[in-house]
Amino acid sequence: MNDRLVNSDRVVLRTDLVSEDAIERFRKNIEISFITGCWNWSGAKNDQGYGEFFCKELFKGVHTRAHRVSYLIYNGEFSHKAYVCHKCDNPSCVNPDHLFLGTPFENSMDKTKKQRNGNTKVTIEQVRQIKNKFRSGVRVKEIAKEYGLSDRYVREIRSGVKRTWIT
Ligand SMILES: [Zn+2]
Repeated sequence: MNDRLVNSDRVVLRTDLVSEDAIERFRKNIEISFITGCWNWSGAKNDQGYGEFFCKELFKGVHTRAHRVSYLIYNGEFSHKAYVCHKCDNPSCVNPDHLFLGTPFENSMDKTKKQRNGNTKVTIEQVRQIKNKFRSGVRVKEIAKEYGLSDRYVREIRSGVKRTWIT
């Protein structure tokens, strides 16, 4: 099922850069979210939630970030100094349509902008706690007060506008 979807919008794969074998292995670690469109990495992840993909042909065979490999497979080569950033703000996502190339400067600008938009008001752990509170019936206003957030922000966590990848 995944294969059909993963193939649908990208016909040309860079098999000149990454072997078909590796691409096949890569795809086995993708779980598509029908809500966000994110291709969530189901394989190993690092502390920050970025997928790790081992491929001996790439980057001298060290573990490397899965979203960078995805960019390579689907979009082609890029400088090893370039940052592959997420439009969706979901570190485990490897959907090439959610990725863009940025310099270290743009990467930090992007992060600052997202902070200003309020995406990092709460930690991942707090979002988990908040989601659990919803499940046990705690009201928006009470949660907002407890965590020092606006009602709107809490409602956005609940409705999945914010931090949708945290479950
Ligand atoms: Zn995504």
